[in-house]
Amino acid sequence: FYQPEAVFMDLAMMETLPKREIYTGLGEIIKYGIIYDADFFSYLEQHADAVLALEQEAAVHMIARSCEIKAAVVSQDEKESGLRRILNFGHTMAHAIEKETGYLRYNHGEAVAIGMVGAADISARLGMIEEADVARVTALIERLHLPTVAEGCTVDAMYKDIFHDKKTINGKVNWVLMEGIGKVTCRNDVPEDVVRAAMAARIGK
Ligand SMILES: [Zn+2]
Repeated sequence: FYQPEAVFMDLAMMETLPKREIYTGLGEIIKYGIIYDADFFSYLEQHADAVLALEQEAAVHMIARSCEIKAAVVSQDEKESGLRRILNFGHTMAHAIEKETGYLRYNHGEAVAIGMVGAADISARLGMIEEADVARVTALIERLHLPTVAEGCTVDAMYKDIFHDKKTINGKVNWVLMEGIGKVTCRNDVPEDVVRAAMAARIGK
């Protein structure tokens, strides 16, 4: 493993991207608030307009904070043994959605957005968080122009897919679930009926 000496972000180049690509990136940025930093999540809620418009101060803050959080997580866990798994929040369902839609219908960050609502929903169904936390996650995702339901998927296919994910260990799916906004934990004991119910709630009509 070799860590980078430096990471450069060119905001001027980011402004040349289509809006949809910006929203897609915001999917992963929201993730950093949920997994590690409740204050950052609140910042995104309170500055949603500035974030969407890529206003200088908001853009610099959200990108710098996301990089700091990623660097903090990765440097504490260089061999991908434990903590780093939290970066996978929202990705278990996202990978199934991407596969079922042929990697065409949804950009990665859009699939992650849907998957994050799914993971929040599972967390609430297991009594780990309140419905109000799920509502906050869902509201911020919608506010930042990202989808919360997937079209073109079935529960049966998605459920099968999650066992083929590279993060699946010994046939057990390692779900990254919420204990609150800003705090997640890994669990491999989520009952099938809970996963299926959360998936069914994420499929658009
Ligand atoms: Zn991702």
